[in-house]
Amino acid sequence: MLNSHIHLDFDNVNTPSAATTGAIVPATGKENWDSVIQCCAKDDNRHFALGIHPWFIEDHQMIDLYDLEIKIEDENPIAVGECGLDYLKVKDQNQQRFFFDEQISLANRYKLPLIVHAVQATEDATDLLKSHASSRGVIHAYSGSLQQAKRLVDIGFYLGFGSKLADPHAYKLHDIVKYIPAEHILIETDDNQNSDGLIQVVERIAKIKKIAVEEAIAQCDDNARKLFNLS
Ligand SMILES: [Zn+2]
Repeated sequence: MLNSHIHLDFDNVNTPSAATTGAIVPATGKENWDSVIQCCAKDDNRHFALGIHPWFIEDHQMIDLYDLEIKIEDENPIAVGECGLDYLKVKDQNQQRFFFDEQISLANRYKLPLIVHAVQATEDATDLLKSHASSRGVIHAYSGSLQQAKRLVDIGFYLGFGSKLADPHAYKLHDIVKYIPAEHILIETDDNQNSDGLIQVVERIAKIKKIAVEEAIAQCDDNARKLFNLS
């Protein structure tokens, strides 16, 4: 079972249980580019992404985008991310949009998928992604509406679901999972500390989609392999 988004380099994130056979480890900014690379160096089933997270935009300058490109060229990440827009936590929307737009261009230049963080900004994030014809990727920890989800699926994007989906009362998220194709769903635990978190997410997906848990795991694994080009 592949975890499509886990911050394994964070001190508070526990090593996942044996059921997790692979992991995508996204970066949050220049501060941890080397840590995520190192975190994946000794394990063929761990893969890192490199990017600048909207929460940490203020710690970055234009020149860091240039450094990011050098790092991408040297280190071959499987994706650019995480990057995106967070209108809830970060005030400067223009600066966020600038950094996100640049990272979309970068991903397209290196033919890499994007790992996108979008909070209270799904509409703007989708518009920006759509303005770059060939962009592809995942909106991780999806929190937009069903209508926005359908729009993202229409342009080939994947939606990532984590611990919030496992909550039996998360009706809005359950509905989104119900109505989008299983071929567009990824599972993740982000910075959650629960080492069994991933199985709880996939169990919920199986229940909503009325399929066996094994089938849900196989589908989500396939989706992640396809998006991130894993063999
Ligand atoms: Zn994350």
